[in-house]
Amino acid sequence: MTKTLVSIALWALSGWLLGAWLGAATGWAIFALGLLTMILVSGLQLSRIARWVRNIDDPPPPSIGPWDEILAPIYRKLKQNRLDLQERSRNFQRALLAAEALPDGALTLAPDKSLLWCNQTAAEHLGLNLHQDRGHSVLNIIRAPEFARYARQDSWDKPLILHLSHSGQVRTLMLHLAPYGIGQFLMVTRDITQIERLENTRTEFVANVSHEMRTPLTVLSGFVETLLDLPDEAISTAQRRHYLELMAQQAHHMQALVADLLTLSSLETTPNSAGAPAPVSALIRTALTQCQALSKGQHQFDIQLDDSLQVTGQSKELSSAFSNLLTNAVRYTPAGGTITVKWTSQPDGGACYQVHDTGIGIATDDIPRLTERFFRVDRGRSRVTGGTGLGLAITKHVALRHQATLDIDSAPGAGSTFSIHFPAARVCPAAPQAAVADHAA
Ligand code: ADP
Repeated sequence: MTKTLVSIALWALSGWLLGAWLGAATGWAIFALGLLTMILVSGLQLSRIARWVRNIDDPPPPSIGPWDEILAPIYRKLKQNRLDLQERSRNFQRALLAAEALPDGALTLAPDKSLLWCNQTAAEHLGLNLHQDRGHSVLNIIRAPEFARYARQDSWDKPLILHLSHSGQVRTLMLHLAPYGIGQFLMVTRDITQIERLENTRTEFVANVSHEMRTPLTVLSGFVETLLDLPDEAISTAQRRHYLELMAQQAHHMQALVADLLTLSSLETTPNSAGAPAPVSALIRTALTQCQALSKGQHQFDIQLDDSLQVTGQSKELSSAFSNLLTNAVRYTPAGGTITVKWTSQPDGGACYQVHDTGIGIATDDIPRLTERFFRVDRGRSRVTGGTGLGLAITKHVALRHQATLDIDSAPGAGSTFSIHFPAARVCPAAPQAAVADHAA
């Protein structure tokens, strides 16, 4: 305003001075010309501003006089707003990236429970496509009656466990709704399929152990009660001895079960260290001695061991795996059968421990289940021969801890071959003296 008044005053002064010199008419003409120039300049400036407003992000047009006072602060404010907006947008992007990086799924819902936004994890959990599903009610997206009931509650103290299936995959999800903002909702999804599986395995395991223990305990307590109830003269010494032998058998079975359970638990809880070079041939020979005692001369043994081969690992664990395969061969091969034991190097630089028997064999359908805890093809036979149903589970565990694989090849009536393949990285040649010492053992 000041600049405008000063300009008018200057034109008036020029008009007055020239009017005093050249006459009043000239003075008024100069003054009028000045005002006209000011109006034209303002018009020109206005049209420039009108053009600039259409591209407001560009710097304002060069301005003269009072226009500079108007445009400069507008432009400064616009620039500041633009910077603020950029900063906010960067913060928003950062928040979105953080939400994407969450290990859990997250969804935001409008007051009518329609989908506003979800992260990638939630999209995977619920099979969502944000572009297609945005704006649709979550009740139409998750079509499970229990979810509909849960979503219609007024408050959500507890999460909902839901089994959902999409793209051929069944997942167990834990969903938790919470109100946030003004009438909006946040839903968090967590995949607990693995946790639920572990929990089921644990429950099943406890049930199996209890079942395994119950039979020998029932037999034991039955005999104890019989012996307690019967007067001494009512039972012969031979009968008493027979009962005690049966009791000892059950006690041994429980001991074997507890020993196998402890081995499994130690395999699961001890850290998997690389170990030291293990004298494999010596370990196999020790296991063979025990198995030949179990066989009582009923089987023929064919043994081919390469004493120069060792693997790095835990001798105690390896011993238990070698011995499990050998005792199984004895227990599931009728008298007169042959058991072949090999410890040989492989063309790929690895090493293989192989036990082949000419025993009863296993049906193809049962082979994949053999390493499950407590799985037996023939429960009765396993129990009669003192089996715990844990031997192959232990063997598989030991193999895995040594980066080895357990392969089973068998057919009913045609015998079985169990092989543990150790990778080349685990194999190390035995020192010559060590090999001689193993022979002696
Ligand atoms: P178990 O203590 O019952 O032998 P394992 O885990 O060692 O338990 O073996 C699981 C089941 O696999 C056995 O019950 C048996 O049915 C079968 N099995 C294992 N080894 C052999 C074998 N060499 N020949 C035939 N069946 C076998």
